[in-house]
Amino acid sequence: MIRDLRHQKIIELVAQKQGITVRELTRLLNVSTMTVHRDLSALEASGLIQRVHGGVVTARRSESRKEICGYCGKECPSRTRLTLFSDSGETVFACCVHCGMGLMHRERGLNAGLGVDFLYETVVDLPRGYYLLESQIRICCTPSALVFADRRDAERMQKGFGGKLLDFAELRNGFAAMAAAHSAPSGGEESTD
Ligand SMILES: [Zn+2]
Ligand SMILES: [Zn+2]
Repeated sequence: MIRDLRHQKIIELVAQKQGITVRELTRLLNVSTMTVHRDLSALEASGLIQRVHGGVVTARRSESRKEICGYCGKECPSRTRLTLFSDSGETVFACCVHCGMGLMHRERGLNAGLGVDFLYETVVDLPRGYYLLESQIRICCTPSALVFADRRDAERMQKGFGGKLLDFAELRNGFAAMAAAHSAPSGGEESTD
């Protein structure tokens, strides 16, 4: 199993069980203890999980670790934060879906990532998520974009708060078109192709 998939699987397992032992992870993922420890170190560094003796639990929402958005430089709210993984194994944070899409659009090789379900605060694999764009709920950047694990939840929110419902591919395409229409806020990017 490749590393990114394993990382996602670990996060899912930890979230489902609210905690899991290294021994159980080794068995379920069918990899060595060493590999599990390496994965856990990487995930802990990104603030997604917390290691305890012999195992791992979901990260406590502590104020001690503050992730900074790689796109706009704001602090990332735990409720809307995105964790993006680059092909070269780096982890980048975004304050919300809006900035996450900006980062994915700007940085090549940033294709995998995890978000937080807006209603239940569970981990969502971004390509499998549903997105409510430009609803009346604005808790981070505008245009606002919220992520949901379940399409029905996103539809219910759409009924109440408006906005467009998109899957990941539609969201990325929509953002690319939007980014082409407006220049980046920081400016200074070479636009010659
Ligand atoms: Zn941001
Ligand atoms: Zn934001």
